[in-house]
Amino acid sequence: MTQNRLLPPDEALAIVEQVVQRLPVEYVRLAEAAERVLAEPVVAPHDVPPFPAATMDGFAVIHDDASPWREVIGEVYAGQAGDLEVTPGTAVRIMTGAPVPRGADAVVPIERVELRDDHIIVRDVALRAGENIRPVGADVHAGDRVLPAGTVLGPAELGVLASLGVGTVAVVRRPRVSVLTTGDELVEPGEPLRPGQIWDSNRLVLAAAVQRAGAELVWAGRAPDTPEALRAVLEQRLAESDILLTTGGVSVGDRDFVRDVLGEIATVYFRRLFMKPGKPLHFATVGKCVVFGLPGNPVSALVGFDIFVRTAIRRMLGQEPARPQTVLVTLDQPVQTSDRIEYQRGIVWVGADGRLYGRNTGNQQSSRLASFVGANAYLVIPPREGPYAPGERVEAIVWGALRSAPPVP
Ligand code: AMP
Ligand code: MG
Repeated sequence: MTQNRLLPPDEALAIVEQVVQRLPVEYVRLAEAAERVLAEPVVAPHDVPPFPAATMDGFAVIHDDASPWREVIGEVYAGQAGDLEVTPGTAVRIMTGAPVPRGADAVVPIERVELRDDHIIVRDVALRAGENIRPVGADVHAGDRVLPAGTVLGPAELGVLASLGVGTVAVVRRPRVSVLTTGDELVEPGEPLRPGQIWDSNRLVLAAAVQRAGAELVWAGRAPDTPEALRAVLEQRLAESDILLTTGGVSVGDRDFVRDVLGEIATVYFRRLFMKPGKPLHFATVGKCVVFGLPGNPVSALVGFDIFVRTAIRRMLGQEPARPQTVLVTLDQPVQTSDRIEYQRGIVWVGADGRLYGRNTGNQQSSRLASFVGANAYLVIPPREGPYAPGERVEAIVWGALRSAPPVP
């Protein structure tokens, strides 16, 4: 399916979401599960806490015990089972986290008792039933759905699973991604340039982006601008990849062979987008492998990655929503428009009034990777006649930490 119409990014994203499917489940030990994505909801197998536990160091008592003093009949520490029983006129010394003995229904903190040799006098008698006790299931009830599928296992989520005694967890396999840069002009960074050559930046840009997106980089390399070489490398990498990224060779130049080779071996869903930068961007599949033919310009390649490849990775991982989410920001400087939806690299901050403000990072030329430096967002600028004025609101895709003040010019 090829078309000459430039496809709006929203429609292209809908196609990506439809074509790309979730990857299979694998089981990993909790200690290896950081930053992985849950494949199945987790249902609590136990109550947390599994026993009524003291939340203070003090004495376990009966809250409405009328005795003037209570005999201390023993003690219980965290980690002990304890088979003591509190009856009227008695108390058990107890530490935070220890199981509350049978019969007791309150823990009086140590600060509120007078301690005599073998008995205590409670200074403040207004004790409530259940005071300073975490009942069984206070944090989590057995059967509760504690984490939905698609959850990224960060520190707190891993802690929830650990507190439930979960040792192994079902996560989605990480997408395997290969990166192929193309162009006879490209040279490895660190090596000298001959006339007409440039250093290959896309390979490192995309390799880093793949890893940051939670995917696994399985191969990254370069191919010269011949259809034979390209086809050979592509065919070799397709088999071991869930996603294959190429850069360059997708516009209408004489040596733009990625376009031709994909046309021969792949099912192509779209080739040209109503967006800037990144008009030529091919989306195709070969068997189960999803192929993105990203533009050669480094900025265009990274924008294409952030909008489309990231969406595919999130789909493969079963994360919802898959596509980038936007917020509204108020511009504080004029912004030039173009004839396509433009993804300008921007800086978004929270103003003193609590609202979000944004501006771009200056020169937005699609070869200028430095337009990403200091950026934490894309400003999504719809096409129209004439610039946007300060005070107008536009959508922004925020990816980095919000600033609390505008950048110093
Ligand atoms: P192409 O789409 O192959 O015509 O490339 C468009 C522009 O991006 C040209 O100026 C290329 O030199 C440049 N370019 C292509 N690939 C890379 C790369 N891997 N690193 C840096 N620049 C590149
Ligand atoms: Mg090229």
